[in-house]
Amino acid sequence: MQHAVTLIPGDGTGPEITEATRRVLEATGVQFDWHLHQAGLEMLEKHGTVLPEDVVESIKQTKVGLKGPITTPVGKGVRSANVALRKKLDLYANLRPAKTYHGLRSRYENIDMIIVRENTEDLYAGIEFQRGTPEQEEILETIARTTGSQLDANAAISIKYISVMATRRIVKFAFDYARAHGRHKVTAVHKANIMRFSDGLFLAVAQEVAKEYPDIQFEDRIVDNMCMQLVQKPEMYDVLVLPNLYGDIISDLSAGLIGGLGVAPGANIGSQYAIFEPVHGSAPKYAGQNKVNPMAMMFSGVLMLRHLGEKEAANRMEKAIAQVIAEGKNVTYDLKPRPDDATAVGTSQVANAVIEKLQKIAVG
Ligand code: NAD
Repeated sequence: MQHAVTLIPGDGTGPEITEATRRVLEATGVQFDWHLHQAGLEMLEKHGTVLPEDVVESIKQTKVGLKGPITTPVGKGVRSANVALRKKLDLYANLRPAKTYHGLRSRYENIDMIIVRENTEDLYAGIEFQRGTPEQEEILETIARTTGSQLDANAAISIKYISVMATRRIVKFAFDYARAHGRHKVTAVHKANIMRFSDGLFLAVAQEVAKEYPDIQFEDRIVDNMCMQLVQKPEMYDVLVLPNLYGDIISDLSAGLIGGLGVAPGANIGSQYAIFEPVHGSAPKYAGQNKVNPMAMMFSGVLMLRHLGEKEAANRMEKAIAQVIAEGKNVTYDLKPRPDDATAVGTSQVANAVIEKLQKIAVG
Protein backbone atom coordinates (compact mmCIF):
# COMPACT_ATOMS: atom_id res chain seq x y z
CA MET A 1 0.00 0.00 0.00
CA GLN A 2 1.23 3.47 -0.91
CA HIS A 3 0.96 6.16 1.76
CA ALA A 4 0.25 9.76 0.77
CA VAL A 5 2.32 12.05 3.02
CA THR A 6 2.76 15.83 2.89
CA LEU A 7 6.49 16.54 2.99
CA ILE A 8 7.49 19.95 4.35
CA PRO A 9 11.29 20.41 4.31
CA GLY A 10 11.11 23.70 6.26
CA ASP A 11 14.10 26.07 6.29
CA GLY A 12 17.59 26.41 7.84
CA THR A 13 18.93 22.86 8.20
CA GLY A 14 15.40 21.48 7.62
CA PRO A 15 15.82 20.56 3.93
CA GLU A 16 19.03 18.57 4.61
CA ILE A 17 17.61 16.48 7.43
CA THR A 18 14.33 16.02 5.54
CA GLU A 19 16.16 14.67 2.50
CA ALA A 20 18.23 12.30 4.69
CA THR A 21 15.06 11.07 6.40
CA ARG A 22 13.12 10.64 3.15
CA ARG A 23 15.91 8.47 1.73
CA VAL A 24 15.94 6.24 4.81
CA LEU A 25 12.13 5.94 4.87
CA GLU A 26 12.14 4.86 1.24
CA ALA A 27 14.90 2.33 1.94
CA THR A 28 12.53 0.50 4.34
CA GLY A 29 10.57 -0.62 1.27
CA VAL A 30 7.40 1.20 2.33
CA GLN A 31 5.84 3.05 -0.63
CA PHE A 32 5.21 6.78 -0.28
CA ASP A 33 3.38 9.28 -2.43
CA TRP A 34 5.12 12.46 -1.28
CA HIS A 35 3.20 15.73 -1.62
CA LEU A 36 6.01 18.28 -1.44
CA HIS A 37 5.05 21.68 0.00
CA GLN A 38 7.28 24.57 1.00
CA ALA A 39 6.92 26.61 4.18
CA GLY A 40 9.37 28.87 5.98
CA LEU A 41 11.53 31.92 5.40
CA GLU A 42 11.74 31.56 1.61
CA MET A 43 7.92 31.56 1.40
CA LEU A 44 7.84 34.68 3.58
CA GLU A 45 10.01 36.50 1.03
CA LYS A 46 8.07 35.16 -1.98
CA HIS A 47 4.49 35.09 -0.72
CA GLY A 48 4.48 37.18 2.46
CA THR A 49 3.70 34.23 4.73
CA VAL A 50 5.77 31.46 6.31
CA LEU A 51 2.80 29.13 5.99
CA PRO A 52 1.11 29.23 2.57
CA GLU A 53 -2.44 27.89 2.63
CA ASP A 54 -1.60 24.99 0.26
CA VAL A 55 0.43 23.37 3.06
CA VAL A 56 -2.62 23.13 5.31
CA GLU A 57 -4.84 22.05 2.42
CA SER A 58 -2.41 19.27 1.51
CA ILE A 59 -2.36 17.89 5.07
CA LYS A 60 -6.14 18.00 5.12
CA GLN A 61 -6.01 15.76 2.08
CA THR A 62 -3.19 13.35 3.02
CA LYS A 63 -3.92 13.50 6.79
CA VAL A 64 -0.21 13.02 7.57
CA GLY A 65 2.74 15.40 7.40
CA LEU A 66 6.49 14.94 7.83
CA LYS A 67 8.01 18.29 8.61
CA GLY A 68 11.44 19.86 8.99
CA PRO A 69 11.84 22.78 11.39
CA ILE A 70 10.73 26.28 10.41
CA THR A 71 12.39 29.48 11.65
CA THR A 72 10.22 32.03 13.42
CA PRO A 73 11.72 35.49 12.68
CA VAL A 74 11.91 37.47 15.92
CA GLY A 75 10.52 41.00 16.12
CA LYS A 76 8.95 41.04 12.63
CA GLY A 77 5.41 40.37 13.78
CA VAL A 78 5.45 36.97 12.04
CA ARG A 79 3.40 34.28 13.75
CA SER A 80 5.10 30.94 14.21
CA ALA A 81 4.19 28.55 11.37
CA ASN A 82 4.45 25.71 13.85
CA VAL A 83 1.90 27.19 16.22
CA ALA A 84 -0.38 28.10 13.29
CA LEU A 85 -0.30 24.53 11.96
CA ARG A 86 -1.16 23.12 15.37
CA LYS A 87 -4.08 25.53 15.68
CA LYS A 88 -5.46 25.16 12.14
CA LEU A 89 -5.39 21.37 12.26
CA ASP A 90 -6.30 21.09 15.96
CA LEU A 91 -3.23 18.97 16.70
CA TYR A 92 -3.98 18.80 20.40
CA ALA A 93 -1.47 16.15 21.46
CA ASN A 94 2.27 16.71 21.41
CA LEU A 95 3.99 13.35 21.61
CA ARG A 96 7.64 13.27 22.58
CA PRO A 97 9.33 9.94 23.22
CA ALA A 98 12.51 9.90 25.31
CA LYS A 99 14.49 6.72 24.89
CA THR A 100 18.11 5.83 25.58
CA TYR A 101 20.05 3.95 22.91
CA HIS A 102 23.32 2.19 23.59
CA GLY A 103 26.16 4.49 22.56
CA LEU A 104 24.49 7.82 23.32
CA ARG A 105 26.30 10.08 25.73
CA SER A 106 23.76 9.94 28.54
CA ARG A 107 24.15 9.46 32.28
CA TYR A 108 21.34 6.92 32.16
CA GLU A 109 20.41 3.60 30.64
CA ASN A 110 16.98 2.04 30.19
CA ILE A 111 14.93 5.20 29.79
CA ASP A 112 11.92 4.55 27.59
CA MET A 113 9.29 7.20 28.23
CA ILE A 114 6.53 8.74 26.17
CA ILE A 115 5.68 12.31 27.05
CA VAL A 116 2.18 13.40 26.09
CA ARG A 117 1.83 17.17 26.30
CA GLU A 118 -1.47 19.03 25.91
CA ASN A 119 -0.93 21.39 23.00
CA THR A 120 -3.78 23.92 22.98
CA GLU A 121 -4.42 25.62 26.30
CA ASP A 122 -2.93 26.35 29.76
CA LEU A 123 -0.67 29.43 29.98
CA TYR A 124 0.08 28.95 26.26
CA ALA A 125 -3.48 29.81 25.17
CA GLY A 126 -2.21 33.33 24.46
CA ILE A 127 -4.67 35.12 26.77
CA GLU A 128 -2.48 37.90 28.10
CA PHE A 129 -2.87 41.46 29.30
CA GLN A 130 -0.12 44.04 28.87
CA ARG A 131 0.49 46.41 31.79
CA GLY A 132 -0.82 49.91 31.35
CA THR A 133 -3.66 48.95 28.99
CA PRO A 134 -7.40 49.52 29.62
CA GLU A 135 -7.96 45.74 29.27
CA GLN A 136 -5.42 45.02 32.01
CA GLU A 137 -7.07 47.63 34.22
CA GLU A 138 -10.46 46.02 33.68
CA ILE A 139 -9.08 42.59 34.59
CA LEU A 140 -7.50 44.01 37.76
CA GLU A 141 -10.86 45.56 38.72
CA THR A 142 -12.65 42.26 38.12
CA ILE A 143 -10.07 40.41 40.22
CA ALA A 144 -10.46 42.96 43.04
CA ARG A 145 -14.26 42.69 42.92
CA THR A 146 -14.44 38.88 42.70
CA THR A 147 -11.57 37.84 44.98
CA GLY A 148 -10.86 40.86 47.18
CA SER A 149 -7.20 40.84 46.05
CA GLN A 150 -5.79 44.26 45.13
CA LEU A 151 -3.03 43.45 42.65
CA ASP A 152 -0.21 45.82 41.75
CA ALA A 153 -1.32 47.91 38.74
CA ASN A 154 2.22 47.79 37.36
CA ALA A 155 1.92 44.15 36.35
CA ALA A 156 1.28 41.97 33.33
CA ILE A 157 -1.21 39.11 33.41
CA SER A 158 -1.31 35.75 31.63
CA ILE A 159 -4.30 33.50 32.11
CA LYS A 160 -3.93 29.82 32.90
CA TYR A 161 -6.86 28.12 31.24
CA ILE A 162 -7.57 24.39 31.60
CA SER A 163 -10.83 22.87 30.38
CA VAL A 164 -12.53 19.54 31.06
CA MET A 165 -12.85 18.88 27.32
CA ALA A 166 -9.15 19.37 26.50
CA THR A 167 -7.99 17.52 29.62
CA ARG A 168 -10.29 14.60 28.91
CA ARG A 169 -9.11 14.21 25.35
CA ILE A 170 -5.39 14.48 26.16
CA VAL A 171 -5.62 11.98 29.02
CA LYS A 172 -7.66 9.61 26.87
CA PHE A 173 -5.03 10.03 24.15
CA ALA A 174 -2.31 9.01 26.66
CA PHE A 175 -4.23 5.91 27.78
CA ASP A 176 -5.15 4.91 24.22
CA TYR A 177 -1.52 5.34 23.18
CA ALA A 178 -0.40 3.22 26.16
CA ARG A 179 -2.85 0.47 25.22
CA ALA A 180 -1.98 0.51 21.51
CA HIS A 181 1.77 0.38 22.17
CA GLY A 182 1.90 -2.21 24.95
CA ARG A 183 2.72 0.23 27.71
CA HIS A 184 1.72 -0.33 31.32
CA LYS A 185 1.52 2.91 33.25
CA VAL A 186 0.30 6.49 32.83
CA THR A 187 1.51 9.21 35.21
CA ALA A 188 -0.42 12.52 35.32
CA VAL A 189 1.76 15.50 36.26
CA HIS A 190 0.29 18.61 37.93
CA LYS A 191 0.57 21.15 40.72
CA ALA A 192 -2.93 20.65 42.11
CA ASN A 193 -1.81 21.35 45.69
CA ILE A 194 -1.24 25.01 44.76
CA MET A 195 -3.38 25.60 41.65
CA ARG A 196 -6.37 23.88 43.15
CA PHE A 197 -8.83 24.82 40.43
CA SER A 198 -6.92 24.63 37.13
CA ASP A 199 -4.46 21.83 37.96
CA GLY A 200 -7.05 20.40 40.36
CA LEU A 201 -9.39 20.01 37.39
CA PHE A 202 -6.61 18.38 35.34
CA LEU A 203 -5.97 15.84 38.10
CA ALA A 204 -9.65 15.12 38.80
CA VAL A 205 -10.43 14.54 35.12
CA ALA A 206 -7.32 12.36 34.75
CA GLN A 207 -8.43 10.23 37.71
CA GLU A 208 -11.89 9.89 36.18
CA VAL A 209 -10.55 8.87 32.75
CA ALA A 210 -8.15 6.38 34.39
CA LYS A 211 -11.15 4.39 35.66
CA GLU A 212 -12.06 3.65 32.02
CA TYR A 213 -8.70 1.88 31.58
CA PRO A 214 -8.43 -0.71 34.38
CA ASP A 215 -5.74 -2.60 32.40
CA ILE A 216 -3.31 0.37 32.61
CA GLN A 217 -1.77 1.46 35.90
CA PHE A 218 -2.35 5.11 36.87
CA GLU A 219 -0.54 7.42 39.26
CA ASP A 220 0.03 11.15 39.63
CA ARG A 221 3.02 13.29 40.56
CA ILE A 222 3.42 16.91 41.55
CA VAL A 223 5.54 18.58 38.87
CA ASP A 224 8.47 19.64 41.10
CA ASN A 225 8.74 16.16 42.58
CA MET A 226 8.48 14.77 39.03
CA CYS A 227 11.56 16.78 37.97
CA MET A 228 13.57 15.36 40.85
CA GLN A 229 12.37 11.81 40.19
CA LEU A 230 13.21 12.07 36.50
CA VAL A 231 16.77 13.04 37.36
CA GLN A 232 17.08 10.30 40.00
CA LYS A 233 15.20 7.34 38.51
CA PRO A 234 13.80 8.05 35.05
CA GLU A 235 13.58 4.34 34.27
CA MET A 236 10.56 4.16 36.63
CA TYR A 237 8.35 6.08 34.20
CA ASP A 238 6.44 4.95 31.15
CA VAL A 239 3.81 7.36 29.74
CA LEU A 240 3.57 10.88 31.23
CA VAL A 241 0.59 13.15 30.53
CA LEU A 242 0.93 16.86 31.27
CA PRO A 243 -0.69 20.25 30.73
CA ASN A 244 1.03 22.43 28.13
CA LEU A 245 3.64 24.33 30.19
CA TYR A 246 4.87 21.43 32.32
CA GLY A 247 4.88 19.27 29.19
CA ASP A 248 7.10 21.73 27.37
CA ILE A 249 9.64 21.91 30.19
CA ILE A 250 9.66 18.22 31.12
CA SER A 251 10.04 17.11 27.50
CA ASP A 252 13.18 19.24 27.12
CA LEU A 253 14.48 17.92 30.43
CA SER A 254 13.86 14.41 29.10
CA ALA A 255 15.62 15.17 25.79
CA GLY A 256 18.62 16.13 27.96
CA LEU A 257 18.39 12.83 29.86
CA ILE A 258 18.69 10.76 26.69
CA GLY A 259 21.51 12.57 24.90
CA GLY A 260 20.26 15.82 23.43
CA LEU A 261 18.20 17.46 20.72
CA GLY A 262 19.93 15.61 17.88
CA VAL A 263 18.04 12.44 18.78
CA ALA A 264 14.73 13.77 20.19
CA PRO A 265 11.72 13.08 17.93
CA GLY A 266 8.22 14.48 18.15
CA ALA A 267 4.72 14.44 16.72
CA ASN A 268 1.70 16.69 16.87
CA ILE A 269 -1.46 14.66 16.62
CA GLY A 270 -5.16 15.52 16.46
CA SER A 271 -8.29 13.49 15.88
CA GLN A 272 -7.95 13.79 12.08
CA TYR A 273 -4.40 14.83 11.21
CA ALA A 274 -0.86 14.25 12.42
CA ILE A 275 2.49 15.96 11.78
CA PHE A 276 5.80 14.32 12.63
CA GLU A 277 8.81 16.55 13.26
CA PRO A 278 11.97 16.73 15.38
CA VAL A 279 11.82 18.61 18.67
CA HIS A 280 14.74 20.84 17.69
CA GLY A 281 14.56 24.03 15.62
CA SER A 282 16.08 25.01 12.28
CA ALA A 283 19.65 25.49 13.65
CA PRO A 284 20.17 28.18 10.96
CA LYS A 285 23.87 28.74 11.70
CA TYR A 286 24.57 25.27 10.23
CA ALA A 287 22.26 25.60 7.19
CA GLY A 288 23.70 24.16 3.96
CA GLN A 289 26.77 22.71 5.72
CA ASN A 290 25.75 19.02 5.74
CA LYS A 291 26.58 19.06 9.46
CA VAL A 292 23.60 18.53 11.79
CA ASN A 293 22.21 15.25 13.04
CA PRO A 294 19.25 13.93 11.02
CA MET A 295 18.41 11.25 13.63
CA ALA A 296 15.77 13.27 15.52
CA MET A 297 13.89 13.62 12.25
CA MET A 298 14.54 9.98 11.35
CA PHE A 299 13.11 8.86 14.70
CA SER A 300 10.11 11.13 13.94
CA GLY A 301 9.83 9.16 10.70
CA VAL A 302 9.77 5.95 12.77
CA LEU A 303 6.83 7.37 14.76
CA MET A 304 5.13 8.21 11.47
CA LEU A 305 5.58 4.65 10.18
CA ARG A 306 3.92 3.33 13.36
CA HIS A 307 1.09 5.84 12.91
CA LEU A 308 0.62 4.59 9.34
CA GLY A 309 0.40 1.00 10.60
CA GLU A 310 3.84 0.07 9.19
CA LYS A 311 5.03 -1.42 12.48
CA GLU A 312 7.50 -3.90 11.05
CA ALA A 313 9.23 -1.29 8.88
CA ALA A 314 9.27 1.10 11.87
CA ASN A 315 11.03 -1.50 14.01
CA ARG A 316 13.61 -2.16 11.30
CA MET A 317 14.28 1.55 10.79
CA GLU A 318 14.65 2.14 14.54
CA LYS A 319 17.02 -0.83 14.80
CA ALA A 320 19.16 0.46 11.89
CA ILE A 321 19.50 3.93 13.47
CA ALA A 322 20.28 2.31 16.86
CA GLN A 323 23.06 0.25 15.25
CA VAL A 324 24.66 3.35 13.73
CA ILE A 325 24.51 5.08 17.14
CA ALA A 326 25.97 2.05 18.91
CA GLU A 327 28.87 1.81 16.45
CA GLY A 328 29.60 5.51 16.96
CA LYS A 329 31.50 5.78 13.68
CA ASN A 330 29.10 7.38 11.21
CA VAL A 331 27.61 9.95 13.58
CA THR A 332 27.50 13.74 13.55
CA TYR A 333 29.51 16.05 15.83
CA ASP A 334 26.86 16.18 18.56
CA LEU A 335 27.17 12.44 19.24
CA LYS A 336 30.96 12.50 19.45
CA PRO A 337 32.74 12.90 22.80
CA ARG A 338 33.88 16.39 21.68
CA PRO A 339 32.02 18.64 19.23
CA ASP A 340 35.22 19.38 17.27
CA ASP A 341 35.96 15.67 16.74
CA ALA A 342 37.48 15.41 13.25
CA THR A 343 35.92 11.96 12.69
CA ALA A 344 32.36 13.32 12.84
CA VAL A 345 30.47 12.74 9.58
CA GLY A 346 27.82 14.87 7.86
CA THR A 347 24.03 14.64 7.60
CA SER A 348 23.94 12.70 4.32
CA GLN A 349 26.66 10.24 5.43
CA VAL A 350 24.50 9.35 8.46
CA ALA A 351 21.66 8.55 6.04
CA ASN A 352 23.99 6.36 3.95
CA ALA A 353 25.11 4.47 7.07
CA VAL A 354 21.52 3.89 8.25
CA ILE A 355 20.48 2.69 4.78
CA GLU A 356 23.43 0.29 4.73
CA LYS A 357 22.32 -1.18 8.09
CA LEU A 358 18.70 -1.38 6.91
CA GLN A 359 19.75 -3.45 3.92
CA LYS A 360 21.31 -6.02 6.27
CA ILE A 361 18.30 -6.33 8.60
CA ALA A 362 15.95 -9.09 7.47
CA VAL A 363 12.40 -8.11 6.61
CA GLY A 364 9.69 -9.61 8.83
P1 NAD B 1 17.61 25.01 17.54
O1 NAD B 1 17.04 23.71 18.04
O2 NAD B 1 17.42 25.28 16.09
O3 NAD B 1 19.18 25.01 17.78
C1 NAD B 1 19.81 25.15 19.01
C2 NAD B 1 21.17 24.48 18.95
O4 NAD B 1 20.97 23.08 19.14
C3 NAD B 1 21.86 24.58 17.58
O5 NAD B 1 22.62 25.74 17.46
C4 NAD B 1 22.70 23.35 17.58
O6 NAD B 1 23.86 23.58 18.32
C5 NAD B 1 21.84 22.34 18.31
N1 NAD B 1 21.04 21.51 17.39
C6 NAD B 1 19.74 21.67 17.04
N2 NAD B 1 19.37 20.72 16.20
C7 NAD B 1 20.45 19.92 16.00
C8 NAD B 1 20.70 18.76 15.22
N3 NAD B 1 19.75 18.19 14.46
N4 NAD B 1 21.94 18.22 15.24
C9 NAD B 1 22.90 18.77 15.97
N5 NAD B 1 22.75 19.86 16.74
C10 NAD B 1 21.52 20.44 16.75
O7 NAD B 1 17.02 26.15 18.46
P2 NAD B 1 16.97 27.73 18.23
O8 NAD B 1 18.31 28.20 17.77
O9 NAD B 1 16.41 28.26 19.49
O10 NAD B 1 15.91 27.96 17.10
C11 NAD B 1 16.20 28.26 15.74
C12 NAD B 1 14.90 28.55 15.02
O11 NAD B 1 14.08 27.36 14.97
C13 NAD B 1 14.05 29.63 15.69
O12 NAD B 1 13.54 30.47 14.71
C14 NAD B 1 12.93 28.85 16.35
O13 NAD B 1 11.75 29.60 16.46
C15 NAD B 1 12.76 27.70 15.39
N6 NAD B 1 12.15 26.49 16.00
C16 NAD B 1 11.34 25.77 15.18
C17 NAD B 1 10.77 24.58 15.67
C18 NAD B 1 9.88 23.80 14.76
O14 NAD B 1 9.87 24.03 13.56
N7 NAD B 1 9.10 22.87 15.27
C19 NAD B 1 11.06 24.14 16.96
C20 NAD B 1 11.93 24.90 17.75
C21 NAD B 1 12.48 26.07 17.25
